[in-house]
Amino acid sequence: MSKRDYYEILGVERGVSAKDLKKAYRRVAMKHHPDRNPDDAASEEKFKEANEAYEVLSDEQKRAAYDQYGHAGVDQQGGFGGGGGAGNFSDIFGDIFGEAFGGGRGHSRGPQPGSDLRYTLQIDLEQAVKGTTAKIKIPTLVSCKPCGGSGAKKGSSPVQCTTCGGVGQVRMQQGFFAVQQTCPTCHGKGKMISDPCTSCHGQGRVEETKTLSVKVPAGVDTGDRIRLAGEGEASPDGGSAGDLYVQMSVRQHPIFERDGKHLYCEVPISFVDAALGGELEVPTLDGRVKLKIPAEAQTGKTFRIRGKGVAPVRGGGAGDLMCKVVVETPVSLTKRQKELLSEFQDTMDGTDAKHSPRKSSWFDGVKSFFEDMK
Ligand SMILES: [Zn+2]
Ligand SMILES: [Zn+2]
Repeated sequence: MSKRDYYEILGVERGVSAKDLKKAYRRVAMKHHPDRNPDDAASEEKFKEANEAYEVLSDEQKRAAYDQYGHAGVDQQGGFGGGGGAGNFSDIFGDIFGEAFGGGRGHSRGPQPGSDLRYTLQIDLEQAVKGTTAKIKIPTLVSCKPCGGSGAKKGSSPVQCTTCGGVGQVRMQQGFFAVQQTCPTCHGKGKMISDPCTSCHGQGRVEETKTLSVKVPAGVDTGDRIRLAGEGEASPDGGSAGDLYVQMSVRQHPIFERDGKHLYCEVPISFVDAALGGELEVPTLDGRVKLKIPAEAQTGKTFRIRGKGVAPVRGGGAGDLMCKVVVETPVSLTKRQKELLSEFQDTMDGTDAKHSPRKSSWFDGVKSFFEDMK
């Protein structure tokens, strides 16, 4: 599945203003918000999608990169698009929905899950077609070992927040409305650390570069995502870890171009082979096959070799390999070769309509075009 267009996700035109973008995002995110659609995986996916789209489009620099290069422009920044995946999302979310949902999700319902991470994995076409196992290194936040993730020094433990009484939220009066807000003292955790752990400075998590082995199934394509559950950032407060999304990016191949399950390549042939026909060997991803070129083949003629394309990861059988013939004009001719060609040309004189039907009809067309102009 390739990624949807960010503008399409938010239902806006490409030239949308920042203000209207925010409005549109708010509308989409409200509709699919997990609080309104509990246990609805499709909504959750749409919600995440909208968050991702807004995260990019609301950032002037990222939006410009996206406008110019599409998903590739924003997914590949440093090969590591994480830095806080859903963490950024919840920041945006808190910013926009602060009032509507009392400080964003997570705060009022126990421990916050760790952020999801995104990683762009570049592989070769051969690896994409046959599948591979890739080792990746990804900077992330892991639970601090000395304090077991609590953030409190060994032997001590976090105490209940005195500002909010452990609820994580405080009520504020704003005009007619009483608004729930995240507790400013404990930032919604409900707990305070009086004696912080020295390894993580009370954060409960430390930065670490994890090395992971990712199994890439055969048939993946650029834009496909592999989800590694629980391999995202550790939770800041004892909740579940986030997920790691490995985004596939298939490198350009020197010979083959891929479009879905089909592969395309160009096969240069000499004009003699093109005229007389012949047999040649063309490469496939797993060897070579013989290709019969019939006599009088023209540039652009495409031959389909069945089953030598790609078997898509979602099943459905392998596609085909399309070989497009390109007739090459000979170069570096010797004197003798040139003589032979001139001699050959002499035999063709005045017989364009017979031997070069395309050339002849083209010139006829040009002639009548000029006559019509008179
Ligand atoms: Zn508090
Ligand atoms: Zn610690």
